[in-house]
Amino acid sequence: MKYNIKLINQVIRDFQQHSYRPQEITIYFDMDNTLCLFSPYGDPDSLRKMWHKGFYRNLPCFREVPYVLKELKNQGFNIKILSSCINSPYCVTEKIEWVLNHLPFIPPEDIVLVPEGEDKIAYIPTPKRSILVDDFYKNITGIYRVGGVGIKKTFSNKERPIPQVSNLMGIFSILQQLNIKK
Ligand SMILES: [Mg+2]
Repeated sequence: MKYNIKLINQVIRDFQQHSYRPQEITIYFDMDNTLCLFSPYGDPDSLRKMWHKGFYRNLPCFREVPYVLKELKNQGFNIKILSSCINSPYCVTEKIEWVLNHLPFIPPEDIVLVPEGEDKIAYIPTPKRSILVDDFYKNITGIYRVGGVGIKKTFSNKERPIPQVSNLMGIFSILQQLNIKK
């Protein structure tokens, strides 16, 4: 996996120069392995169980997640959920239920669910004023390609030439580095 470091640095510099206010920025959060623990390494057991009723509804929420999203909303950021759904009879309804249950301050219209196989990035209408928090390499490189900032959610502390967090609390300092006005 290779990141286009030149492009990434350029996007970050452009973002910093604008000195945006939180109200001008939308932060999109992936769900599986970003807000909730799906399976860190895509183990076969989870890949089988994800088709079963109750799987998505019961995924454990990372402990810091409600606080971080609420706080970002209080700071004025637009917060949206952006998650891909497998083509099962349960995935869409259970993902919506999960958000309403764990993050009741997110209205249903701010939950964007993408059909399996479609490009998530196409669902971000204003990429240059958007930040995507996601664990998936393809989505992170995708958002930079259209001029938005990607923050990689990771389970390892492996060094990468991009903004990354292993705990979402790390987002606050990344937003400061992006020169967003309070
Ligand atoms: Mg994910």
